[in-house]
Amino acid sequence: STTSVADYETVQVLGHGNGGTVYKVVHKKTSNVFALKVVHANSDPVMRRQIFREMEILRRTDSPFVVKCHDIFEKPGGDIAILMEYMDVGTLDSLSKNTDGGIFTEHTLANVARQILNGLNYLHTHKIIHRDIKPANLLVNKNMDVKIADFGVSKIMYRTLEACNSYVGTCAYMSPERFDPDSYGANYNGYSGDIWSLGLTMLELYMGHFPLLPAGQKPDWAALMCAICFGEAPSLPEGVSEEFRSFIECCLQKDSGKRWTASQLLSHPFCRQPEN
Ligand code: ADP
Repeated sequence: STTSVADYETVQVLGHGNGGTVYKVVHKKTSNVFALKVVHANSDPVMRRQIFREMEILRRTDSPFVVKCHDIFEKPGGDIAILMEYMDVGTLDSLSKNTDGGIFTEHTLANVARQILNGLNYLHTHKIIHRDIKPANLLVNKNMDVKIADFGVSKIMYRTLEACNSYVGTCAYMSPERFDPDSYGANYNGYSGDIWSLGLTMLELYMGHFPLLPAGQKPDWAALMCAICFGEAPSLPEGVSEEFRSFIECCLQKDSGKRWTASQLLSHPFCRQPEN
């Protein structure tokens, strides 16, 4: 590219992730604000490969529901910097933890769900499985635009199922068929795993804690995996609308073949409520 990292001034650290740091930066000439993800990948070929995969995916995507990637720089010494669209509110995870939960009314959640589904529908149409949908990977801005971020573990499907079965991603949000394809993997194509994760995400945002664990409990991975595979699918507490309850049920079918697709869910009554 014609520009370089030197054209941007660092304003503050936004957060730390796997092997990298995300900064808020300003383009010196235009004063436009961006997020710059700097990953120290010089010595680790596995991480380097993962970053280039993420870059490749981000470069190909162009959707208002997926965080935009504007540029990529390779710094001397091997660091890689990804210039992204800045999302000024942060993640849905931090938003839900820093507020008393009252902002996530059903109506707000319908707007959140619709945007994530638009993003997933776009990705799935382009044969991309995200594989790590969770509140910490969904970014928000002041307009309450919600966009899908973090493609570190996502994969473009080259019609190979083996690629989907490799053990990556966050276990907590993984669908039953990823642990136990024999029981829950009828018509398994990988895309439906993202829908399960979306269902858990919506449930978490409504309940204020991860739905497969009591509030405040630390994850015990073995117990969690048992709950996902052998327990009943989690569901909403009493007092929600039928539309919301049904929506969550359509996402959290344990059998991946029965789960609705992103495009089907977009026409579910819960998503078709008026936006304002
Ligand atoms: P991880 O590798 O753990 O998924 P990232 O390195 O992608 O996390 O991001 C770390 C943190 O930086 C996020 O939790 C978020 O708070 C912040 N962040 C990431 N991307 C952006 C962005 N485009 N705009 C604003 N904040 C961001």
